[in-house]
Amino acid sequence: MARAAVPGRLSGRRLVWRVARLAQARAETPTARTLVLDVPGWPGHLAGQHVDVRLTAPDGYTTQRSYSIAAAPDGTLVELTVQRVPDGEVSPYLTEVFAVGDPVELRGPVGGWFVWRPTDPDPVLLVAGGSGVVPLMAMARARAAAGSRVPFRLVYSVRTPADGYYTDELRRRARDDGGLDVTHVYTRGGPGPVGRLTVATLNTHGWPPDFAPACYVCGPTGFVEAVADMLVALGHDPARIRTERFGPSGG
Ligand SMILES: Cc1cc2nc3c(=O)[nH]c(=O)nc-3n(C[C@H](O)[C@H](O)[C@H](O)COP(=O)(O)OP(=O)(O)OC[C@H]3O[C@@H](n4cnc5c(N)ncnc54)[C@H](O)[C@@H]3O)c2cc1C
Repeated sequence: MARAAVPGRLSGRRLVWRVARLAQARAETPTARTLVLDVPGWPGHLAGQHVDVRLTAPDGYTTQRSYSIAAAPDGTLVELTVQRVPDGEVSPYLTEVFAVGDPVELRGPVGGWFVWRPTDPDPVLLVAGGSGVVPLMAMARARAAAGSRVPFRLVYSVRTPADGYYTDELRRRARDDGGLDVTHVYTRGGPGPVGRLTVATLNTHGWPPDFAPACYVCGPTGFVEAVADMLVALGHDPARIRTERFGPSGG
């Protein structure tokens, strides 16, 4: 598939740090929080892109992390969902301390390959592990916002039902958004078989390779590599498998 210019780094535009403020926050799970940031001057984004968030301590020390954008563009609002990593430097601050009205620096949108556009005609297979559902949710939301009827299937692996993000919305969308199927796979406990996602799961709940779906896989590095291997083993064209790894992202 051809790579087209998108807002952000592929367009050649220099990314600048902008001061964003927390406009709203809500708990997704006991350890994950959705942040709605107001970013004056935000240039817009595509589903699948991420931002860099930079924190600065009173002594001038700065640190930054990447976070996927969770929702379709909505004016100057940019929505993220952050999972608290125990002993992490940035995520405990964003999930537990960062308060409505507080500022943070933000740069983006970043990324030009792991994106879905409402004009893309092909069936889509989304495979998420844990917080890797965030950019895939942006794709499902962008599909709905555009009134697209492109067939979507989301296979979402998460430890237990209580760890799932966007649970009510996914249930509603699976019911109301024609052509969107959602399957949860629980690795530690929940209804149905418990265990890691397998080739059989992808075979049953994904699309057959003959449909030539665009595949998007996102989650922890090991999850992404295992799923990409399974998709190739099932006969999917490696060129149609796009991956995003949520490894440590400081720098
Ligand atoms: C492109 C991209 C998009 C991302 N999008 C999201 C997102 O939408 N939501 C989200 O919650 N996170 C996302 N991440 C991960 C995020 O950037 C941070 O790595 C994460 O929040 C941890 O930062 P921290 O400062 O709290 O932990 P650190 O202080 O950086 O790390 C603390 C400890 O946790 C380990 N660790 C760091 N990150 C992870 C991780 N992701 N999983 C498991 N262990 C880890 C480190 O190796 C270290 O041992 C994304 C990463 C990338 C590269």
